[in-house]
Amino acid sequence: MFDSTYLEKLKTRYNYDDKTIKALSLVIPEILNYYGEDYSDIILNAIYNCQIIACNSHETISKVLRERKLTPMIGSSPVSEIDIKRAESVYVPNIKISYDSENNSYNIDKVDRIIVTSHTFNFDSLKGLEVLTHALCHLVKGFNDELTIEENVLTIRNGISYEKRKIVYDNEIFLDFIEDYGKGLEEGFNLYDTDKIVSAVYKENYKSYDFDSIYTIATILKEKYNLKKEINSYELIGDYENFEKKYSADVIKDLCSTCDTCVCLENDMLLSFSREEKNNYAKNINKILSDNAYNKLVSIYEQKQKTKNI
Ligand SMILES: [Zn+2]
Repeated sequence: MFDSTYLEKLKTRYNYDDKTIKALSLVIPEILNYYGEDYSDIILNAIYNCQIIACNSHETISKVLRERKLTPMIGSSPVSEIDIKRAESVYVPNIKISYDSENNSYNIDKVDRIIVTSHTFNFDSLKGLEVLTHALCHLVKGFNDELTIEENVLTIRNGISYEKRKIVYDNEIFLDFIEDYGKGLEEGFNLYDTDKIVSAVYKENYKSYDFDSIYTIATILKEKYNLKKEINSYELIGDYENFEKKYSADVIKDLCSTCDTCVCLENDMLLSFSREEKNNYAKNINKILSDNAYNKLVSIYEQKQKTKNI
């Protein structure tokens, strides 16, 4: 249950300062409200089991992550590091895996969940609250059935996305990138949720203006097509398989790959210098969206109408 005792326990457990507790006291009720009562246990457990580290002015997110001695991850896809690239906040499950030589198998010993936020954003500012909320939303969407090991492959689920890594044991454990899926679309959902939650805290419309392409797709699905409740449930307690099954695997796979492409292009657009270059990126992204994404969205809408009429 969310009350002052819960906040007290958090404060004692992680030695949070007053600013962090104040921010959490504003954000947690709106996260609970947004996702709904059915998920309150997941949300409160997730936040209780995750340490929030706000960088001081001498620290960066990458430095803090390095100092935490995370299980080394080798390689990643361009899209999977979106939050690190934005350098605002990141949620990381640090997974400790051991090798059981008797059974020739790998076991998850423990998971240290951490959120790190950049020193640039104070939790008592609007942007600071957004950055914290964004990471908390990623956290709650990963908490349920986050990790599975099959032989030597670890799957890290987050919302409707996942990442697969090969577990390599060579004196110590390494996690070698195999593939990921749905990261761009999941990021869009997360940006959308964050804006809604921050808007509820501030009682006025808040918009972060990050990654317009995936934000637009998320808004069409969750808001225009009124699929918020359904998609939220796939993100919190379902996974990509349920999500694909519902709207057709081919459609979702294509939509996910379009979102991944768009996020990478938007990131390159942000980093490009000349106006002309930026314009070319924008044109290209719009073309990709109109050629590849909108027909997929229409087919999801038709699927929704069909199931409604049964
Ligand atoms: Zn994110």
